[in-house]
Amino acid sequence: MSQTLQSVRGMNDILPDEAEFWEIFEETVRSWLKCYGYRPIRMPIVEPTPLFKRAIGEVTDIVEKEMYSFEDSLNGEHLTLRPEGTAGCVRALIQHNLAAQHPRRLYYMGQMFRHERPQKGRYRQFHQVGVEAFGFAGPDIDAEMILMGARLWGDLGLDGIELQINSLGQPEERAQHRAALIAYFEQHVDMLDDDARRRLHTNPLRILDTKNPALQDLCANAPKLIDYLGPESLAHFEGVQRVLRDAGQAFTVNPRLVRGLDYYNLTVFEWVTDRLGAQGTVCAGGRYDGLVNQLGGKPTPACGFAMGVERLIALIQEAGGAPASPAPDVYLVHQGENASRLAFRVAEGLRDQGLNVLLHCGGGSFKSQMKKADASGATFAVVIGDDEAATGEAQLKALREEGVAQRKLKVDDLAEAIIGQLIDSDEEE
Ligand code: ATP
Ligand code: MG
Repeated sequence: MSQTLQSVRGMNDILPDEAEFWEIFEETVRSWLKCYGYRPIRMPIVEPTPLFKRAIGEVTDIVEKEMYSFEDSLNGEHLTLRPEGTAGCVRALIQHNLAAQHPRRLYYMGQMFRHERPQKGRYRQFHQVGVEAFGFAGPDIDAEMILMGARLWGDLGLDGIELQINSLGQPEERAQHRAALIAYFEQHVDMLDDDARRRLHTNPLRILDTKNPALQDLCANAPKLIDYLGPESLAHFEGVQRVLRDAGQAFTVNPRLVRGLDYYNLTVFEWVTDRLGAQGTVCAGGRYDGLVNQLGGKPTPACGFAMGVERLIALIQEAGGAPASPAPDVYLVHQGENASRLAFRVAEGLRDQGLNVLLHCGGGSFKSQMKKADASGATFAVVIGDDEAATGEAQLKALREEGVAQRKLKVDDLAEAIIGQLIDSDEEE
């Protein structure tokens, strides 16, 4: 016997009970994005590998060890399952010249792939909602993006998600800070772990992002980027903070917030909760003014963020927000050849009127069908036998109310009767 096949480690099936929950989440997210004027864009899940190397940076965790890259066996192209969405979005922006006439507010949702060690809140296939704005240079859009997050947490019924912000300045400022940082860590090289030593000369900023507790003190005392920012960068950062203060949005400036990807400049931010253990960042983003140009487009200021859907869903569930799975309005029970033919017509007719109908499939006695009707959670059963079919009638039975007699109705009158009763019971509630 062959072994049962399993999904790839770290890549999860999302089963119906949970998938319904995801759909509600996605609807909330879509209407939230719409109310800020964001428009959808859908990019391929596979992109040329060089795109990610150029956009994310060769010495980042993602490019060094997390990408699912392969060679197309048919034509030898080097391809990668997208580990994040910004690179593909910028590629599409350039390819279709989207930012030529006016600024763009864009969003996408979907799977991302990173070869990480699977654990709670960290998977190899996970989902992000990505939000990107192109063509806005001022701190207003950064601030608006941050405030958008606050509104979404409210819409999702979440609290206790805290905002951290920082400024990474401009590349020249980072270069000066980088030199100071390398000099500092070189003085303490014996205290560094392997990872930090490896990054010392390639990406020293990333050492500050370490999760190793032994390095916390050392990092806390390291030269701070903020002390290397010039007046323009400081003004931009102050501009963001002013809008946040005006809006009454609490935040912490975290000088060690550096983000895992190379492409950020100026504002960076994260929304963090302490309810998900180590995987506490539910949303992260910032400005990346150099990326469009770096990927071959006209210089275009840009800002964006991505949310981890699995982490947000876990938070909503932890807060007890599981939605009930929507029960059908009608379960349609039928037996006999003529009855079945009529049942199909009746089911479509009821759907035409906007009702959710589960048509019984697979035959069986009236009794067993009625059991299924009950178990489906439907509000009504509509029952059609050959006797009813002969006269164009059906029995209507309320399944959720005691002592309501079954009624025989003309099939053409069913929808009205059902909708009438649904409205009545809504009003009673
Ligand atoms: P982390 O520090 O947790 O690895 P990151 O900095 O690599 O996060 P980003 O690239 O900024 O994450 O992605 C944005 C968001 O996507 C994260 O804040 C997180 O919510 C989510 N995310 C990132 N990687 C994963 C993963 N492997 N599984 C589930 N969600 C993830
Ligand atoms: Mg990561």
